[in-house]
Amino acid sequence: MKHNFGAGPGILPHEVIKQASQGVIDFNGIGLSILEISHRSAEFESVLSEAIKLVKELLQVPEGYSVLFLQGGASQQFAMVPYNLLPENGKAAYLETGVWANKASKEAKYFGEVQTIGSSKESNFTYIPKDYEVPADAAYFHITSNNTIYGTQMQEFKPSPVPMVADMSSDIFSRKFNVADFSLIYAGAQKNMGPAGVTLVIIKDDILGKVNRKIPAMFNYQTQIEGGSMYNTPPVFAVYVSMLTLNWLKAKGGVEAIEKENNAKAAALYREIDRNSLFKGVSAIEDRSKMNVCFVMNNPEHEKPFLKLCDDKGIVGIKGHRSVGGFRASIYNALPITSVHVLIDAMQEFAEKNK
Ligand code: PLP
Repeated sequence: MKHNFGAGPGILPHEVIKQASQGVIDFNGIGLSILEISHRSAEFESVLSEAIKLVKELLQVPEGYSVLFLQGGASQQFAMVPYNLLPENGKAAYLETGVWANKASKEAKYFGEVQTIGSSKESNFTYIPKDYEVPADAAYFHITSNNTIYGTQMQEFKPSPVPMVADMSSDIFSRKFNVADFSLIYAGAQKNMGPAGVTLVIIKDDILGKVNRKIPAMFNYQTQIEGGSMYNTPPVFAVYVSMLTLNWLKAKGGVEAIEKENNAKAAALYREIDRNSLFKGVSAIEDRSKMNVCFVMNNPEHEKPFLKLCDDKGIVGIKGHRSVGGFRASIYNALPITSVHVLIDAMQEFAEKNK
Protein backbone atom coordinates (compact mmCIF):
# COMPACT_ATOMS: atom_id res chain seq x y z
CA MET A 1 0.00 0.00 0.00
CA LYS A 2 1.16 3.50 -0.80
CA HIS A 3 1.12 6.41 1.61
CA ASN A 4 -1.17 8.78 -0.23
CA PHE A 5 -0.51 12.45 0.57
CA GLY A 6 -2.24 13.67 -2.61
CA ALA A 7 -4.18 16.94 -2.37
CA GLY A 8 -7.21 16.10 -4.43
CA PRO A 9 -8.82 13.83 -5.17
CA GLY A 10 -7.41 12.77 -1.83
CA ILE A 11 -7.12 9.52 0.06
CA LEU A 12 -10.23 7.50 0.91
CA PRO A 13 -10.39 5.00 3.78
CA HIS A 14 -9.29 1.56 2.61
CA GLU A 15 -12.39 -0.07 4.16
CA VAL A 16 -14.58 2.31 2.16
CA ILE A 17 -12.85 1.42 -1.09
CA LYS A 18 -13.42 -2.27 -0.31
CA GLN A 19 -17.12 -1.71 0.48
CA ALA A 20 -17.54 0.44 -2.63
CA SER A 21 -15.95 -2.25 -4.83
CA GLN A 22 -18.43 -4.77 -3.45
CA GLY A 23 -21.24 -2.32 -4.20
CA VAL A 24 -20.04 -2.10 -7.79
CA ILE A 25 -20.25 -5.86 -8.15
CA ASP A 26 -23.46 -6.45 -6.21
CA PHE A 27 -25.09 -3.67 -4.25
CA ASN A 28 -26.42 -4.94 -0.90
CA GLY A 29 -26.96 -8.40 -2.38
CA ILE A 30 -29.76 -7.28 -4.72
CA GLY A 31 -28.08 -8.71 -7.80
CA LEU A 32 -27.45 -5.30 -9.38
CA SER A 33 -24.44 -3.00 -9.34
CA ILE A 34 -24.71 0.42 -7.69
CA LEU A 35 -23.69 1.68 -11.15
CA GLU A 36 -26.87 0.40 -12.77
CA ILE A 37 -29.63 0.97 -10.24
CA SER A 38 -32.21 3.66 -10.86
CA HIS A 39 -31.75 6.84 -8.90
CA ARG A 40 -35.51 6.66 -8.27
CA SER A 41 -35.24 3.20 -6.73
CA ALA A 42 -35.93 2.68 -3.04
CA GLU A 43 -32.31 1.45 -2.73
CA PHE A 44 -30.78 4.70 -3.94
CA GLU A 45 -33.28 6.84 -2.09
CA SER A 46 -32.15 5.21 1.11
CA VAL A 47 -28.48 5.85 0.20
CA LEU A 48 -29.16 9.54 -0.39
CA SER A 49 -31.28 9.98 2.71
CA GLU A 50 -28.67 8.17 4.81
CA ALA A 51 -25.94 10.45 3.39
CA ILE A 52 -28.00 13.55 4.25
CA LYS A 53 -28.72 12.21 7.73
CA LEU A 54 -25.03 11.56 8.34
CA VAL A 55 -24.07 15.09 7.24
CA LYS A 56 -26.68 16.53 9.63
CA GLU A 57 -25.56 14.29 12.46
CA LEU A 58 -21.80 14.69 12.04
CA LEU A 59 -21.93 18.47 11.65
CA GLN A 60 -24.91 18.99 13.96
CA VAL A 61 -26.74 20.95 11.28
CA PRO A 62 -29.50 22.97 12.97
CA GLU A 63 -33.12 23.24 11.83
CA GLY A 64 -33.75 25.60 8.94
CA TYR A 65 -30.92 24.33 6.73
CA SER A 66 -31.10 22.12 3.63
CA VAL A 67 -28.39 19.63 2.73
CA LEU A 68 -27.80 19.18 -1.00
CA PHE A 69 -25.65 16.85 -3.06
CA LEU A 70 -25.00 18.60 -6.35
CA GLN A 71 -22.67 18.32 -9.33
CA GLY A 72 -20.26 20.77 -10.96
CA GLY A 73 -17.73 20.79 -8.13
CA ALA A 74 -16.91 23.65 -5.81
CA SER A 75 -16.16 25.63 -8.98
CA GLN A 76 -19.83 25.62 -9.92
CA GLN A 77 -20.63 26.95 -6.44
CA PHE A 78 -18.35 29.92 -7.17
CA ALA A 79 -21.08 30.96 -9.65
CA MET A 80 -24.18 29.54 -7.96
CA VAL A 81 -23.57 31.51 -4.77
CA PRO A 82 -23.72 34.97 -6.40
CA TYR A 83 -26.35 33.83 -8.94
CA ASN A 84 -28.70 33.10 -6.03
CA LEU A 85 -27.56 35.53 -3.36
CA LEU A 86 -26.14 38.67 -4.96
CA PRO A 87 -28.76 41.21 -6.13
CA GLU A 88 -27.92 43.09 -9.36
CA ASN A 89 -27.42 46.37 -7.56
CA GLY A 90 -25.93 44.77 -4.47
CA LYS A 91 -22.40 43.94 -3.43
CA ALA A 92 -20.63 40.99 -1.89
CA ALA A 93 -17.50 40.94 0.27
CA TYR A 94 -14.71 38.44 -0.41
CA LEU A 95 -11.57 37.53 1.50
CA GLU A 96 -8.76 36.82 -0.97
CA THR A 97 -6.70 33.99 0.52
CA GLY A 98 -5.62 32.15 -2.61
CA VAL A 99 -6.40 31.02 -6.12
CA TRP A 100 -9.71 29.36 -5.16
CA ALA A 101 -10.95 32.45 -3.30
CA ASN A 102 -9.91 34.46 -6.31
CA LYS A 103 -11.79 32.26 -8.73
CA ALA A 104 -14.87 32.53 -6.50
CA SER A 105 -14.81 36.34 -6.51
CA LYS A 106 -14.17 36.43 -10.26
CA GLU A 107 -17.44 34.57 -10.84
CA ALA A 108 -19.32 36.90 -8.49
CA LYS A 109 -18.31 39.86 -10.66
CA TYR A 110 -20.66 38.54 -13.38
CA PHE A 111 -23.57 39.21 -11.04
CA GLY A 112 -22.84 42.34 -9.04
CA GLU A 113 -20.21 44.39 -7.25
CA VAL A 114 -17.45 42.57 -5.45
CA GLN A 115 -15.46 44.14 -2.63
CA THR A 116 -12.23 42.39 -1.70
CA ILE A 117 -11.96 43.32 1.96
CA GLY A 118 -8.67 41.60 2.71
CA SER A 119 -5.93 39.92 0.72
CA SER A 120 -2.58 38.21 1.24
CA LYS A 121 -1.80 38.17 -2.47
CA GLU A 122 1.31 40.32 -2.01
CA SER A 123 2.97 37.49 -0.05
CA ASN A 124 1.75 34.72 -2.38
CA PHE A 125 -0.94 33.87 0.16
CA THR A 126 1.32 32.70 2.98
CA TYR A 127 -1.06 34.00 5.65
CA ILE A 128 -4.73 34.73 6.36
CA PRO A 129 -5.54 38.46 6.51
CA LYS A 130 -7.11 39.30 9.86
CA ASP A 131 -7.38 43.00 9.68
CA TYR A 132 -10.60 43.43 7.73
CA GLU A 133 -14.05 44.83 8.27
CA VAL A 134 -17.11 43.21 6.71
CA PRO A 135 -19.35 45.95 5.29
CA ALA A 136 -22.81 45.84 6.85
CA ASP A 137 -24.44 46.50 3.48
CA ALA A 138 -22.94 43.47 1.71
CA ALA A 139 -25.35 40.73 0.61
CA TYR A 140 -22.90 38.15 1.99
CA PHE A 141 -19.29 37.61 3.02
CA HIS A 142 -17.33 34.81 1.32
CA ILE A 143 -14.37 32.98 2.83
CA THR A 144 -12.26 29.93 2.02
CA SER A 145 -11.73 28.08 5.30
CA ASN A 146 -8.67 26.13 4.14
CA ASN A 147 -6.39 27.12 1.29
CA THR A 148 -5.37 23.82 -0.22
CA ILE A 149 -2.55 25.17 -2.38
CA TYR A 150 -0.81 27.37 0.20
CA GLY A 151 -1.35 25.39 3.40
CA THR A 152 -3.15 28.10 5.33
CA GLN A 153 -6.34 27.66 7.32
CA MET A 154 -8.65 29.98 9.19
CA GLN A 155 -8.28 28.96 12.82
CA GLU A 156 -11.41 30.77 13.88
CA PHE A 157 -14.45 32.29 12.21
CA LYS A 158 -15.09 35.82 13.37
CA PRO A 159 -18.81 36.62 13.56
CA SER A 160 -19.98 38.43 10.44
CA PRO A 161 -22.68 41.14 10.37
CA VAL A 162 -23.94 39.71 7.06
CA PRO A 163 -24.59 36.10 5.94
CA MET A 164 -21.31 34.19 5.82
CA VAL A 165 -20.59 31.82 2.93
CA ALA A 166 -17.69 29.37 3.16
CA ASP A 167 -15.84 27.21 0.69
CA MET A 168 -14.86 24.33 2.99
CA SER A 169 -13.76 21.98 0.21
CA SER A 170 -10.52 20.96 1.86
CA ASP A 171 -11.31 20.89 5.56
CA ILE A 172 -14.97 20.00 6.01
CA PHE A 173 -15.44 17.09 8.45
CA SER A 174 -11.88 17.56 9.72
CA ARG A 175 -12.68 19.73 12.74
CA LYS A 176 -15.57 21.01 14.76
CA PHE A 177 -17.26 24.25 13.80
CA ASN A 178 -20.64 25.80 14.29
CA VAL A 179 -22.84 25.49 11.18
CA ALA A 180 -25.13 28.20 12.56
CA ASP A 181 -22.32 30.75 12.05
CA PHE A 182 -22.78 30.28 8.29
CA SER A 183 -25.61 30.84 5.84
CA LEU A 184 -24.10 28.65 3.15
CA ILE A 185 -21.30 26.09 3.17
CA TYR A 186 -20.08 24.23 0.12
CA ALA A 187 -17.42 21.61 -0.49
CA GLY A 188 -16.32 19.43 -3.36
CA ALA A 189 -16.38 15.90 -1.92
CA GLN A 190 -12.97 14.77 -3.08
CA LYS A 191 -10.90 15.51 0.02
CA ASN A 192 -12.64 14.36 3.21
CA MET A 193 -16.06 13.24 2.04
CA GLY A 194 -15.83 10.93 -0.94
CA PRO A 195 -14.79 10.70 -4.57
CA ALA A 196 -14.87 13.54 -7.09
CA GLY A 197 -18.23 14.11 -8.78
CA VAL A 198 -20.43 15.33 -5.97
CA THR A 199 -20.51 18.61 -4.08
CA LEU A 200 -22.01 19.16 -0.66
CA VAL A 201 -24.03 22.32 -0.07
CA ILE A 202 -25.52 23.22 3.30
CA ILE A 203 -27.80 26.19 2.92
CA LYS A 204 -29.93 28.21 5.31
CA ASP A 205 -33.33 28.25 3.70
CA ASP A 206 -34.21 31.82 4.62
CA ILE A 207 -31.37 33.40 2.61
CA LEU A 208 -33.07 32.44 -0.65
CA GLY A 209 -35.58 34.47 -2.63
CA LYS A 210 -33.79 37.80 -2.24
CA VAL A 211 -32.70 38.28 -5.85
CA ASN A 212 -35.04 39.12 -8.70
CA ARG A 213 -33.16 37.62 -11.62
CA LYS A 214 -34.36 34.49 -13.36
CA ILE A 215 -32.13 31.54 -12.51
CA PRO A 216 -31.93 28.42 -14.71
CA ALA A 217 -33.21 25.37 -12.88
CA MET A 218 -29.91 23.55 -12.46
CA PHE A 219 -28.28 26.65 -10.95
CA ASN A 220 -31.19 27.47 -8.68
CA TYR A 221 -30.83 26.31 -5.06
CA GLN A 222 -34.61 26.45 -4.66
CA THR A 223 -35.14 23.97 -7.53
CA GLN A 224 -32.48 21.70 -6.08
CA ILE A 225 -34.04 21.84 -2.60
CA GLU A 226 -37.50 21.14 -4.01
CA GLY A 227 -36.11 18.27 -6.09
CA GLY A 228 -34.35 16.78 -3.06
CA SER A 229 -30.99 16.86 -4.94
CA MET A 230 -32.71 14.83 -7.69
CA TYR A 231 -33.90 17.50 -10.09
CA ASN A 232 -31.84 15.53 -12.59
CA THR A 233 -29.98 12.24 -12.34
CA PRO A 234 -27.65 12.59 -9.36
CA PRO A 235 -24.09 11.18 -9.31
CA VAL A 236 -25.25 7.91 -7.80
CA PHE A 237 -21.85 6.30 -7.23
CA ALA A 238 -20.24 9.43 -5.75
CA VAL A 239 -23.15 9.87 -3.34
CA TYR A 240 -22.91 6.19 -2.38
CA VAL A 241 -19.18 6.36 -1.62
CA SER A 242 -19.70 9.61 0.28
CA MET A 243 -22.32 7.88 2.41
CA LEU A 244 -19.87 5.05 3.12
CA THR A 245 -17.12 7.55 4.03
CA LEU A 246 -19.40 9.47 6.37
CA ASN A 247 -20.41 6.19 7.99
CA TRP A 248 -16.73 5.36 8.45
CA LEU A 249 -16.23 8.74 10.11
CA LYS A 250 -19.20 8.17 12.41
CA ALA A 251 -17.85 4.77 13.43
CA LYS A 252 -14.50 6.39 14.27
CA GLY A 253 -16.23 8.70 16.75
CA GLY A 254 -17.22 11.53 14.41
CA VAL A 255 -15.69 14.93 13.83
CA GLU A 256 -14.48 15.44 17.39
CA ALA A 257 -12.50 12.19 17.34
CA ILE A 258 -11.01 12.79 13.88
CA GLU A 259 -10.05 16.33 14.86
CA LYS A 260 -7.89 14.92 17.66
CA GLU A 261 -6.17 12.60 15.18
CA ASN A 262 -5.75 15.41 12.67
CA ASN A 263 -4.21 17.63 15.35
CA ALA A 264 -1.75 14.89 16.29
CA LYS A 265 -0.76 14.25 12.65
CA ALA A 266 -0.26 17.94 11.89
CA ALA A 267 1.66 18.58 15.12
CA ALA A 268 4.06 15.69 14.43
CA LEU A 269 4.77 16.81 10.88
CA TYR A 270 5.21 20.51 11.66
CA ARG A 271 7.44 19.57 14.60
CA GLU A 272 9.76 17.75 12.20
CA ILE A 273 9.70 20.59 9.66
CA ASP A 274 10.68 23.07 12.39
CA ARG A 275 13.27 20.76 13.94
CA ASN A 276 14.98 19.48 10.79
CA SER A 277 17.39 22.11 9.44
CA LEU A 278 16.94 20.92 5.83
CA PHE A 279 13.25 21.83 5.74
CA LYS A 280 11.26 25.01 6.15
CA GLY A 281 7.51 25.64 6.43
CA VAL A 282 6.04 28.13 3.96
CA SER A 283 2.97 29.49 5.71
CA ALA A 284 2.66 31.79 8.73
CA ILE A 285 2.86 29.64 11.87
CA GLU A 286 -0.44 30.88 13.34
CA ASP A 287 -2.28 30.12 10.09
CA ARG A 288 -0.82 26.69 9.38
CA SER A 289 -3.24 24.24 7.85
CA LYS A 290 -3.89 20.92 9.53
CA MET A 291 -4.92 19.46 6.18
CA ASN A 292 -2.25 20.61 3.69
CA VAL A 293 1.24 20.92 5.10
CA CYS A 294 3.39 22.95 2.70
CA PHE A 295 7.16 23.06 3.02
CA VAL A 296 10.33 23.64 1.02
CA MET A 297 13.97 22.60 1.39
CA ASN A 298 16.56 25.19 2.32
CA ASN A 299 18.77 23.84 -0.45
CA PRO A 300 16.57 23.53 -3.58
CA GLU A 301 19.02 20.96 -4.98
CA HIS A 302 17.91 18.56 -2.28
CA GLU A 303 14.32 18.52 -3.50
CA LYS A 304 14.68 16.05 -6.35
CA PRO A 305 16.65 13.44 -4.38
CA PHE A 306 14.26 13.82 -1.43
CA LEU A 307 11.32 13.20 -3.74
CA LYS A 308 13.10 10.11 -5.03
CA LEU A 309 13.59 8.83 -1.47
CA CYS A 310 9.87 9.39 -0.80
CA ASP A 311 9.00 7.52 -3.95
CA ASP A 312 11.17 4.58 -2.83
CA LYS A 313 9.25 4.48 0.45
CA GLY A 314 5.84 4.46 -1.22
CA ILE A 315 5.11 8.09 -0.30
CA VAL A 316 3.07 9.60 -3.12
CA GLY A 317 1.43 12.93 -3.92
CA ILE A 318 3.71 15.25 -1.94
CA LYS A 319 4.96 17.46 -4.76
CA GLY A 320 3.88 21.05 -4.08
CA HIS A 321 1.40 22.87 -6.29
CA ARG A 322 3.13 24.41 -9.32
CA SER A 323 2.43 27.94 -8.05
CA VAL A 324 4.18 27.35 -4.72
CA GLY A 325 6.79 24.67 -5.46
CA GLY A 326 8.42 22.51 -2.80
CA PHE A 327 6.22 19.97 -1.11
CA ARG A 328 2.66 19.64 0.07
CA ALA A 329 1.72 16.77 2.32
CA SER A 330 -2.06 16.54 2.45
CA ILE A 331 -3.04 14.78 5.64
CA TYR A 332 -6.76 14.34 5.18
CA ASN A 333 -9.01 12.38 7.56
CA ALA A 334 -8.32 9.00 5.96
CA LEU A 335 -4.53 9.26 6.13
CA PRO A 336 -3.32 7.19 9.08
CA ILE A 337 -0.76 8.67 11.49
CA THR A 338 1.53 5.76 10.59
CA SER A 339 1.87 7.28 7.09
CA VAL A 340 2.86 10.62 8.66
CA HIS A 341 5.55 8.77 10.62
CA VAL A 342 6.84 7.16 7.42
CA LEU A 343 7.24 10.65 5.94
CA ILE A 344 8.93 11.97 9.09
CA ASP A 345 11.33 8.99 9.05
CA ALA A 346 12.15 9.77 5.40
CA MET A 347 12.91 13.39 6.32
CA GLN A 348 15.18 12.26 9.13
CA GLU A 349 16.91 9.65 6.99
CA PHE A 350 17.51 12.23 4.26
CA ALA A 351 18.93 14.71 6.77
CA GLU A 352 21.22 12.05 8.20
CA LYS A 353 22.60 11.25 4.72
CA ASN A 354 23.06 14.94 3.83
CA LYS A 355 24.70 16.29 6.96
N1 PLP B 1 -11.97 25.27 -3.42
C1 PLP B 1 -10.94 24.69 -2.80
C2 PLP B 1 -10.53 25.17 -1.43
C3 PLP B 1 -10.25 23.64 -3.43
O1 PLP B 1 -9.22 23.04 -2.82
C4 PLP B 1 -10.65 23.22 -4.71
C5 PLP B 1 -9.96 22.14 -5.42
O2 PLP B 1 -8.97 21.61 -5.00
C6 PLP B 1 -11.73 23.89 -5.32
C7 PLP B 1 -12.37 24.90 -4.64
C8 PLP B 1 -12.21 23.50 -6.69
O3 PLP B 1 -12.99 22.37 -6.53
P1 PLP B 1 -13.63 21.57 -7.75
O4 PLP B 1 -12.51 20.96 -8.50
O5 PLP B 1 -14.52 20.58 -7.06
O6 PLP B 1 -14.40 22.53 -8.57
